[in-house]
Amino acid sequence: MPPRKPSPVGIHLLMSGSPSGLTYAERVGAEAIQLFASNPRGWAIPRPALVADAAFAEACMERRVPVFIHAPYLVNLASPTLATRTKSVAALRHSIERGSRLGARGVVLHAGAAIHSANFDSALTETRELLLPLLDSLADNAPDLLVEPTAGGGAPVAATVADLGPLFAVLGHHPRLGVCLDTCHAYAAGHDLAKPGGVRTTLNALVKTVGRGRLKLIHANDSKDPLGSRRDRHARVGTGTIGTEPFAELFRHPATNSVPVIVETPGGLDEQRHDLTLLKTLRDRDR
Ligand SMILES: [Zn+2]
Ligand SMILES: [Zn+2]
Repeated sequence: MPPRKPSPVGIHLLMSGSPSGLTYAERVGAEAIQLFASNPRGWAIPRPALVADAAFAEACMERRVPVFIHAPYLVNLASPTLATRTKSVAALRHSIERGSRLGARGVVLHAGAAIHSANFDSALTETRELLLPLLDSLADNAPDLLVEPTAGGGAPVAATVADLGPLFAVLGHHPRLGVCLDTCHAYAAGHDLAKPGGVRTTLNALVKTVGRGRLKLIHANDSKDPLGSRRDRHARVGTGTIGTEPFAELFRHPATNSVPVIVETPGGLDEQRHDLTLLKTLRDRDR
């Protein structure tokens, strides 16, 4: 087995791609950054800030801080509404473009939802028809597309690890397709990460379903809700129903070797610094 490379841990940065954002990330001790390329709750596509983006990319590269883009929350390639699907593709194209400028490794998009289970089969087909051309269009320096399984509401295309099987199959196991695993979502979808060995079982199943090397990013969020709730309410690591120890287990699994870990929980500078320090302690404890 190759030697273990520690996972960089970092934050979702709300100050999108600005020098002050990078200063903030450094102050909390972030070793990786995720950000939105545009307003996460709207469809508007901002004018490109080419000079600022190039400066941000260079600063992150100098510091060896990997960057990821999270697509807007409204994106739903499986929507039964044509207008939503069309706007979703445009938003993803923008996230990919800006991600390329920022030197991002991946663009995270939520596995969509059919809204009503009656639409499920066509939802998978729509996802294929919209996502495959995007995957095929990715230039060598463009970020990969990382599907994030959801918490499980609204007839999801993928919430559980098993759901990723049919999704990867319709997308032909495209080489530019990866997975972003959100621990809060996985727990809400029914994966019992809280019990001893629960993280190992889930990650083993993930590797078996999508293959080695597909897990490209982890969202380390605890949950405010019980196992299988299908609710997506993040809690700070160690303060929710998952607890602290499963996050230590996460760092020990071979599938997470060198895979960046991002916290997506609110809080000011002190809270975020505390959360990253906790994660680094768990990561470095057993090395
Ligand atoms: Zn997400
Ligand atoms: Zn997430």
